[in-house]
Amino acid sequence: MIRQLHIIGGGLAGCEAAWQAARSGVPVILHEMRPLKRTQAHETGQLAELVCSNSFRSDDHHASAIGLLHEEMRRAGSLVMSAADRNKVPAGAALAVDRLGFSRAIEDTLRATPNIEIRRNEVTAPPEEAYAVIIATGPLTSAPLAEAITAFTGSQSLAFFDALAPIVHMDSIDLSQAWFQSRYDKPGPGGTGKDYINCPLDQSQYEHFVNALLTGEKTSFKEWERNTPYFEGCLPIEIMAERGPQTLRHGPMKPVGLTNPHRPEKPYAVVQLRQDNALGTLYNLVGFQTKLKHGEQTRIFRMIPGLQNARFARLGGIHRNTFINSPRLLDGRLRLRTQPRLRFAGQITGVEGYVESAAMGLLAGLFAAAEWRGDAELPLPPPTSAMGALLQHLTVGAQADTFQPMNVNFGLFPPIPAPLQADGRRARGKAKAPARKHAYCARALADMENWLKQVSKICGQAMPGTGATASGEPVSEMAVETGHGGKDAAP
Ligand SMILES: Cc1cc2nc3c(=O)[nH]c(=O)nc-3n(C[C@H](O)[C@H](O)[C@H](O)COP(=O)(O)OP(=O)(O)OC[C@H]3O[C@@H](n4cnc5c(N)ncnc54)[C@H](O)[C@@H]3O)c2cc1C
Repeated sequence: MIRQLHIIGGGLAGCEAAWQAARSGVPVILHEMRPLKRTQAHETGQLAELVCSNSFRSDDHHASAIGLLHEEMRRAGSLVMSAADRNKVPAGAALAVDRLGFSRAIEDTLRATPNIEIRRNEVTAPPEEAYAVIIATGPLTSAPLAEAITAFTGSQSLAFFDALAPIVHMDSIDLSQAWFQSRYDKPGPGGTGKDYINCPLDQSQYEHFVNALLTGEKTSFKEWERNTPYFEGCLPIEIMAERGPQTLRHGPMKPVGLTNPHRPEKPYAVVQLRQDNALGTLYNLVGFQTKLKHGEQTRIFRMIPGLQNARFARLGGIHRNTFINSPRLLDGRLRLRTQPRLRFAGQITGVEGYVESAAMGLLAGLFAAAEWRGDAELPLPPPTSAMGALLQHLTVGAQADTFQPMNVNFGLFPPIPAPLQADGRRARGKAKAPARKHAYCARALADMENWLKQVSKICGQAMPGTGATASGEPVSEMAVETGHGGKDAAP
């Protein structure tokens, strides 16, 4: 029997996974249901269609977490990045692409790769006979497969809407106004009685805040999203505000059981922030899922005392989105704990964004390839890298009880002290931010080098620039020709 890897979903993650596995010599069958069956958002039958914006966001790999992720993926020979680079259009500091050219480049490369078979079919359950499967069906996974996933993961483990509350970098919260305390000082299971950060509002601040929520500009649900009911438990904060001026004070902003150590008077309302990652570098605004536009969120949430200088790692949102509870279900290599022959990749794992989805495809493809080759398990990418930090967040760092999709950001990285300046002192305040970002990026790229050598050894892939796999398996020329993954891409 041929040991084939079945990949379900020919989107960004599925295509990247297929490419990475195939160039390690693994026979791959890539299943894509379009154009036979459409989703509500895709418009073409092409592989790797970009469903909305044509931007991959900042391409600055010295100072932005997403730019760093681009660069790490290029160095790992990513097909998605290579196709993006070949099809880029002018967009300032961002990497934006000609979407049709981008999809075509990916499809052409996969078609030309001898050990990949592309099948146009809807998969309604992971193929029983398959030696290994990667499920990469994205935020709009078809209903029969979603039902099958629910059946083997449990009904609480698959969500159909995300409800994103904004997330703030802990070191940007002003603790001369805010304070640590759990309501009624209750420690709860595993807590200390000081688990939340509390931001107090007096009556006038509360009224201004509610007014800003009511008048702030919002995005609307798409027509097809309206047909999928979302439940009362995750109402947008501005909808709660519309229900009455006191609704928030009796909901997520209730001030009871909390004592402000900085001021004698009782707060009229309180915004609570809860730790969002194991590192303790990120905190989310509890109950603040919202459809406010991003610019409005920054403006309005900075009205909250203690958050006046907040840096947001993620802004809020509510979208149609199918995703699993990865921290509960997956092991460190994206395998389902209960059925390790099944892996997940892409947006369905609870990452957010085109590039993050493709990055999880890249890792899933490599992990599957290492298994297939059987020599050694591929070590995890370093947690100091963008890929490693995202993976670690999904699989161990995020809180399973409140898990919601996440984009890449420096708050997921192990903290780094502010670097020394020319005068020998550590940068402080606003001056600290750019130097720190540079330090995160430099550390990540240095740490990735060793990991990439292991990839080359264990998966038999060509190191960038050599053009052939260690085992002599065919490699499409594309990654080499385009210079990404090629010699010219080396720093
Ligand atoms: C409406 C919408 C807009 C978005 N806009 C952006 C944006 O502007 N920028 C951004 O960075 N991110 C955006 N995202 C989020 C996310 O980055 C993208 O959805 C991204 O395409 C996810 O990549 P993926 O590979 O996980 O899924 P997809 O790219 O969606 O690929 C999954 C593939 O699986 C196929 N499939 C589904 N079910 C089956 C099945 N049962 N059998 C076979 N094939 C199946 C689908 O047809 C699809 O081709 C958006 C998401 C949505 C829903």
